[in-house]
Amino acid sequence: MSSIRDERPVPGVARIVLARPEKRNAQDRDLLYELDDAYARALRDERVRVIVLAADGPDFSSGHDLDSDWAMDGVASRTMTGGFGAPGAESWFATEEELFTGLCLRWRDIPRPTIAQVQGRVMGGGLMLVWPCDLVVAASDASFVDPVGAFDMNGAEYFTHLWELGARRAKEMLFTGEPISAQDALAMGMVNRIVPPEQLESATLELAERIARRPPFGLRLAKRAVNQSLDLQGQRSAVESAFGLHHVAHAHNRELHGQLVDPGGRAVIRDSARLGEAAQREEKDRGEDG
Ligand code: ZN
Repeated sequence: MSSIRDERPVPGVARIVLARPEKRNAQDRDLLYELDDAYARALRDERVRVIVLAADGPDFSSGHDLDSDWAMDGVASRTMTGGFGAPGAESWFATEEELFTGLCLRWRDIPRPTIAQVQGRVMGGGLMLVWPCDLVVAASDASFVDPVGAFDMNGAEYFTHLWELGARRAKEMLFTGEPISAQDALAMGMVNRIVPPEQLESATLELAERIARRPPFGLRLAKRAVNQSLDLQGQRSAVESAFGLHHVAHAHNRELHGQLVDPGGRAVIRDSARLGEAAQREEKDRGEDG
């Protein structure tokens, strides 16, 4: 069953929809490849000027589906990496280089403007679908969290946190694992605009149409100029060097726990969510008292 839906809502705009709401759009290998295929289809269609990435259900994406089958036997690499069946650390390194950093960098450089249309929660690997997009339109209920530190890791694989948040807020996100609200994300420049949830689709489409009316080669060059500037600042190198640290952490956890991540991570995430909810309740009570 497909986890992706292709739409052409108005001339000039392709909308790719994550359609796995029963799993809060958790990502598995098939969804990532279907998404890559959908981007490629949109690019092959000469009429498409702007691509919107949207999601069904209350949450944009809960991240990587850790319980799914990530085996890559017989899979043909899209990013020219390989060694999926190699012994030792190589096979998982190759798998993540292909499915995570490789696809994200490829999507970041798609030669058409891309807009993420985001509602609800964006967790861990969910950030890796939003951040490669050029623009982000968020519903006022959106929140963004990288909880990966709970697994004794540095953070999610596509490590552009610094550019999204600035150094201090990036560290706070990684150190605390606490969600960033849409309002804070707007203040940090991580999202372009916030709209009421019921206007999310129409506001995103309106922005996409506005961009689609402009000359396409100019858009392509403007995008490339900004992305090249990011690279001159070291973004691509930073992603690759953080990926090395991320794999030290996977190797560390494998040595200590016999698995890629610290198995205590889920409890850490549960506990901090409980603490966060309690703090929110307290703040609300305080607000009501005075
Ligand atoms: Zn990883």
